[in-house]
Amino acid sequence: MPEPTLAGRAALISGGSSGINLGIAKALAAAGASVAVFGRDGDKARRAAAEIEAAAAPLGRALGLAGDVRDPDAVARVVGEAADAFGPLGIVVAGAAGNFPAAAVDLTPKGFRTVVEIDLMGTYNVFRLAFDRLATPGASLIAITAPQAVNPTMRQAHVCAAKAGVNMLVRTLALEWGPAGVRVNGISPGPIAGTEGMARMAPGEAALERVARRTPLRRLGEVREVADLALFLCSDAAAYITGGIYNCDGGVELGDASGDALTRRR
Ligand code: NAP
Repeated sequence: MPEPTLAGRAALISGGSSGINLGIAKALAAAGASVAVFGRDGDKARRAAAEIEAAAAPLGRALGLAGDVRDPDAVARVVGEAADAFGPLGIVVAGAAGNFPAAAVDLTPKGFRTVVEIDLMGTYNVFRLAFDRLATPGASLIAITAPQAVNPTMRQAHVCAAKAGVNMLVRTLALEWGPAGVRVNGISPGPIAGTEGMARMAPGEAALERVARRTPLRRLGEVREVADLALFLCSDAAAYITGGIYNCDGGVELGDASGDALTRRR
C-alpha cells in the first residue's frame, strides 16, 4: 500500500501533548497534515508542537494550545484557534484521558466522575464542538478508547464505564454523522510501552513483564503501531470505514494468554 498522504489536511488532537496521542500527531504531520495539539498545560502542548514540527520537517505544521476537555467553552475556543490557523478540520482525534487504579469501594464519587468527565464527556465535547468547523464531506474522527470498554477489569470500574460510553458514542455518531460525510471510528490500544498510562497501571519492570506474559502476542505495543492505525483511518484508503472500534492491542481483548495452551499433546 502506498504511504498515505495527508497534505492540506488540518488535524486537532486532544491530549496530543504526550504519549500515544503525541505519536499520532507526529505521524499525521509527517504525512503532511497541519496538526494542533492540546492539553490542560499549554507550555507542554507548545513543547510538543515544536517536537512535532521538528520530526515532520520539511512537511507538517504544528500548534500547541491549552484547554481542558471537560470545559465546553475552552474546547470551543481551541477548536476555533485550530481552524482559524489551519482551515476546516479534516481530522479530529479525541485522546485525552485520565486513569489510576482503584478498587470501586476506594473510589470516591468525585474520582469516578472525574474520569467519566475527561474520557466520555471530553470525547463528546471535542467531537461535538469540532463538528461545525469540520471539512465535510471527508472528515475523519477518531476516539482513543481502551480494552476496558469491553473487558470488565478489576480496579478499573471508572475507566470501564467511561470507555464503554466512548465506544457507544463512536458508533452512534457514525450513524448520525455519516450522511454529512463524517466518519467516526475508535482505536483501542493495548498496553503500549513507554507511556504514562502503562507507568501508572504497571509500575516497574516486573509488572511490565507480567503484562507482556498475559498478552497473546507476548509483548507490549509501540506508540508507532497505534499511530500507523490512526494514519490508515485518516487516509483515503479508509474512506468507506466508519463506526468501527479497531484494536491495536496484541490480542489483549481476547483475554489472559498467560496459560500454557499451545501444545502438541493429544
Ligand atoms: P498520556 O501520555 O497520559 O497523555 C494524556 C494526555 O491527555 C496529555 O496530553 C494530557 O495533557 C491530556 N489530558 C489529560 N487530562 C486532560 C483534560 N482534562 N483536558 C485536556 N487534556 C487532558 O496518555 P497515554 O498513556 O499515552 O494514553 C493516551 C490515550 O490512549 C488515552 O485515551 C488512554 O486511555 C488510551 N490508552 C492508553 C494505553 C496505554 O498503554 N498507555 C492503553 C489503552 C488505552 P495535560 O496533562 O497537559 O492535560
